[in-house]
Amino acid sequence: MNHSKNCPGMTLWFTGLSGAGKTTISQVVEQVLISEGYLVERLDGDIVRQFLTKDLGFSKADRDENLRRIGFVAHLLTKNGVIVLVSTISPYQDIRAEMRQKIGQFAEVYVNASVETCEKRDTKGLYRKARNGEILNFTGINDPYEPPVNPEVTCDTNCESVDESAAKVIEYVKQRMTQNLKPSIPLRMI
Ligand code: ADP
Repeated sequence: MNHSKNCPGMTLWFTGLSGAGKTTISQVVEQVLISEGYLVERLDGDIVRQFLTKDLGFSKADRDENLRRIGFVAHLLTKNGVIVLVSTISPYQDIRAEMRQKIGQFAEVYVNASVETCEKRDTKGLYRKARNGEILNFTGINDPYEPPVNPEVTCDTNCESVDESAAKVIEYVKQRMTQNLKPSIPLRMI
């Protein structure tokens, strides 16, 4: 497919615990979609927090503000035909619902892995620090995580491979693209 600015954009909002696999899956999805000619941008929580939201911490108010800024950028890109891959823990249901409403072309990707799985991986050493009390407000340990109620895609990374999880997301994107590209029925035909 030759993706151009006339193609509809969408935001895929990856949510899940730290270490669940949001970054890893979205990187694979990005590579595949780019290789097929789609316009893609990735907004990764860890990177965004080094630049756009450097001033924010991890209270509910700061987490909400972090997501509102990310959502603002994602909305602009989506309007311009980009497939935006947002990967951030985003533990609260209310703010994810707000993003869905604001962005419109939006889908939630629940990257589901248990605390036990994530803690065993502990890719960034953060679970150990949280258990030692060196990090407060750590999602899954001493801060809440509210799973999505009705996500468009669920990846269960307790048991799926990275490629299996990424394939689910890519399939969803393609289905949604096809739906979005279908011409709507002109009013005079109804
Ligand atoms: P997050 O972005 O959610 O904090 P990361 O993507 O940084 O998580 O780390 C997830 C880790 O889990 C990686 O080391 C990855 O190789 C591993 N992993 C195992 N199975 C999967 C899977 N199905 N999807 C994504 N990551 C997986």
